[in-house]
This record gives sequence, C-alpha cells and structure tokens, in this order.
Amino acid sequence: MAILVTGGAGYIGSHTVMYLKEQGEEVVVLDNLSKGHERAVDGVPFYQADLTDGKVLDHIFTDRDIDSVIHFAASSLVGESVTNPLEYYRNNVTGSHALVSKLVEYEVKYIVFSSTAATYGNPERTPIVESDPTIPTNPYGETKLAIEKMLRWCDEAYGLKSTSLRYFNAAGADPEGRIGEDHDPESHLIPIVLQAALGQREKVSIFGNDYPTKDGTCVRDYIHVLDLAQAHYLALKRMKESNESNIFNLGNGKGFTVKEVIDTCRIVTEKEIVVEDASRRAGDPAVLIASSQKAIKELGWKPVYPELQQIVEHAWNWHQNHPQGYKAGTVSLER
Ligand code: UDP
Repeated sequence: MAILVTGGAGYIGSHTVMYLKEQGEEVVVLDNLSKGHERAVDGVPFYQADLTDGKVLDHIFTDRDIDSVIHFAASSLVGESVTNPLEYYRNNVTGSHALVSKLVEYEVKYIVFSSTAATYGNPERTPIVESDPTIPTNPYGETKLAIEKMLRWCDEAYGLKSTSLRYFNAAGADPEGRIGEDHDPESHLIPIVLQAALGQREKVSIFGNDYPTKDGTCVRDYIHVLDLAQAHYLALKRMKESNESNIFNLGNGKGFTVKEVIDTCRIVTEKEIVVEDASRRAGDPAVLIASSQKAIKELGWKPVYPELQQIVEHAWNWHQNHPQGYKAGTVSLER
C-alpha cells in the first residue's frame, strides 16, 4: 500500500515525504514543479502533473496501490492571494475538487489535507482552538476553508475520511541538512532574514509596526517542518484506526513578534541584519497562536523541536550550506 503525496516536492511536502520514508512507508509523489524541486524527493516515484490532469491521476490510481493521500499541492501565499484571488480559487479549490473526485472514483478512503491557521482570520482569543470561528481575512484562508468544507460533505456523501491539519507558521529544515526551504521569490519571514544574514539581500522589511502587539509587529506561532511531518503521519494512522474525519491545529502554542524572530536570527547567525519599517501586508491578522492540545491528546503528537532558536538553527544550517537552494550542489536523501 502506498501514500500519494500531492505537492510532495514542496517545502512541507518534501519533509513529510522524507519522514514517511524513514517510517518505512511507500510513497508516490505528484507535483507540477511550479514551486517544488524534484531534487527534494530524490529516489521517490515521481509524477510531474497538475491535480487537474485526469489522465495522470488515472494512471497513478490504476498502476500504484494507493490507499491514502496527503494533499499539499496548493498556492499558499497570503499577500499574493489578496492580489490574485482567482488564481487561488482555480489552483486550490478547482485542483482539490479534481483530486477528490478521483479519490471517490477510485474508492481511496483517506485524505490528510494541508490546511492553515489562515482559516481563522482575526481570532477573538488566543490560543485558538479548532472550534473557534473561521472568518478568513484573505483568499488563501478562504480557499483552504472551502476545501475543508467540501471534504466534510464528501464524508457524508461518499464516506471519504479526511483530516484537515491547520498549520501555523512552518519553519526550519531537516536537522541533517539534506533538504530545506527554497522559494523563488522568497516571501516567508525566516528565510528572508537568513538571506539578509547571508548578504543576499540588503535589508528586511517589517510589514507593519502598529499592530496591537507588544512591539507593534505581528505575532506568529512557528512550528518545525519535521514536527508537521510527524503530525501528518500520526493523523493518517489515527484516521485509519478510528475511521473518522477530524480537524487539528498544529503549532507550538507560543507567539513571537516579527522583531523577536529577527533577534533570534541575529543570535543564531551572529550577523548584522538591517531592518526597515514598511507598511502592513494586506490580509495579515495581528496575532495567530495555536492551541494544539487536541493533536497532542488525540494524535499523541509531541513536537521534537519546539524552540524557536533550534528551528532557526536548522534553517540557518540549510541556507548556509545551500545558499542557492536546490539550484547548486547535490541534494540527496541518502544518508
Ligand atoms: N513578514 C515581514 N517581512 C517579510 C516577510 C514577512 O514582516 O519580509 C511578516 C508577515 O507580515 C507576517 C510574519 O512576518 O506577519 C510571517 O509571515 P510569513 O510570510 O513568514 O508567514 P505567514 O504568516 O504569511 O504564513
């Protein structure tokens, strides 16, 4: 039996693929490589195609013994989603609709869905629990929420079991430095700060200094990418045992301001990092902090790397050794 991982060549996808392989699972990757890197999944059966490519999906479900899917493939940038909402509806909602239709057709019973804290919008309280209101402030969160809802109705209608994992801010890299984060252009805070530490950019713009937080900058809950990977594995196992659909938050339950993140990067890298104040980024809520008690209790999930400093250390190790990301040098999953 194999697990199909869509978007498996992307940042969180590739770390999950590596983790699943290390647990002895058989994995097949589908990725259109619009953002992902084939090198990140070296040695894993790989199909380059869109989710809407019915022929390739037919081929995968006919030829491979797929019993479950972990679905990462999506557009995932808050700011971009605000300026280009139609692209987010096309890629995320239409893409997931095409995938889920094939799951129903081929009677694949289990899907773990990569959802997001952005489904909550501006939370009324922190830490956020799964039953809190979901009122997204951007099309990214809105499309992810639409897919969660589609999955719920697909359980009612077809018995397709789903687990939606609402991640907070994924960060870090494989502690052994084999794979890491590589977006072009980069838009996430920690890699941007580390690029500045490497001298690849002059300065870091801080998007908004007038939020109602302790230093005026946005607060986020950073979670190690391998701890997310672990949660996907546990969620899949639990869903198969219980045969129930579910939703879980995944974060460390601790919030850090943008300025605190930059300070942590300064400590880890021992480099000067020049910053400038910039205007708020559209669609950004002020504070997002998870309660992950449900995942801890029901999945037996326990983050292995909960400290921000260690998360940044692993990211820094990757960026220092792969300053051009996957472009230069050989990246291999072989130990
Ligand atoms: N951010 C920033 N400067 C940057 C990139 C991000 O100030 O160059 C802020 C962003 O506004 C947000 C936080 O850092 O408050 C985390 O942003 P990121 O894009 O890493 O993740 P997101 O919260 O969008 O998932």
